[in-house]
Amino acid sequence: MERIFNFSAGPSMLPLPVLEQAQKELTNYKGSGMSVMELSHRSKLFTDIIEGAEQGLRDLMQIPDNYKVLFLQGGASQQFAMVPMNLLGPDKKADYVNTGSWSKKAMKEAERFADVNVIASSADKNFTYIPEVSKDMIDPEASYVHITTNNTIEGTAFRHMPDTGDVPLVADMSSNILSEEIDVSKFGIIYAGAQKNIGPAGLTVVIIREDLIGHAGEDVPAMLNYKTHSDAGSLYNTPPTFAVYMAKLVFEYIKESGGLKEMERVNRDKAELLYLTIEESGLFTSPVEKKSRSLMNIPFVSPSEETDAAFLEGAKQRGLETLKGHRSVGGMRASIYNAMPKEGVQTLVDFMNEFEKNHK
Ligand code: PMP
Repeated sequence: MERIFNFSAGPSMLPLPVLEQAQKELTNYKGSGMSVMELSHRSKLFTDIIEGAEQGLRDLMQIPDNYKVLFLQGGASQQFAMVPMNLLGPDKKADYVNTGSWSKKAMKEAERFADVNVIASSADKNFTYIPEVSKDMIDPEASYVHITTNNTIEGTAFRHMPDTGDVPLVADMSSNILSEEIDVSKFGIIYAGAQKNIGPAGLTVVIIREDLIGHAGEDVPAMLNYKTHSDAGSLYNTPPTFAVYMAKLVFEYIKESGGLKEMERVNRDKAELLYLTIEESGLFTSPVEKKSRSLMNIPFVSPSEETDAAFLEGAKQRGLETLKGHRSVGGMRASIYNAMPKEGVQTLVDFMNEFEKNHK
């Protein structure tokens, strides 16, 4: 059975060389006679893995020394709670930018702890664009400003990061971390569930500026306190060992492939090909405003649900899978993370053109 082109929003494709290396090492990791899954998280072999993963990510993203890298669990969804639990000051004020489903979930969770102020929103146009965020919108007393850099469901992305001055910028980067070069020093916290550009589900990466650690109240459980994990080097309890190992392999693979500069070049190239095909099409349209378009998640719609269904069926027969759009947007959505080869996008656009020609 051949591998297919999997356009899933996550968990999603992993680089084949990474899967093959994991397969090769699966039953006997580095002569230990064990798989990574069977290694103690306190063993020397696993210590090398987790330290290697951290260094790999630091090198790729050029993470400054005054930032900690944490390997946690609970998904990005757990960060929706950990961020306010750890960052809120006595005023309990936090500013949020509402750019869609995941922003709303982050806000809803924060409302348990914080006085949430929505400083900008694209709800008026069904989240089809990224609103402007300027410094004067930000409450100088807010403990942080939260944004979702890439909106997985709506297919929008911040093309430049807002300047939040002295108020820390917190970013949910789940669906576009490692897809392009970014300046980590502009952020207070970056967090991401691993299951798109990093590795398998079960691992959550948090990059946090050191001065933001250690402010959680006494009532915050140890597992939800950044300080616990920072002090213990992400080994307070058993981390998701195999997922950390896979992430390390992915980081090494990205480095060997030319780093984030090269990821960005290829991602732009892939996205341009698909957007151009949609623009030139008389059948498919993009619901997203041009200047807010994501490079990672690209929704497109046809005039009817029947046409969508026929397209999805034909695509499946060509090994193009998981293209059904999110129910809130409808139509199709192609998630084209780092591991989706250009060939996958080329096969998709070839089929779109063929389908359109035959669909009269
Ligand atoms: N934020 C964004 C932008 C996402 O795309 C997702 C998952 N698709 C989440 C948060 C939730 O992540 P998790 O399932 O890891 O909790």
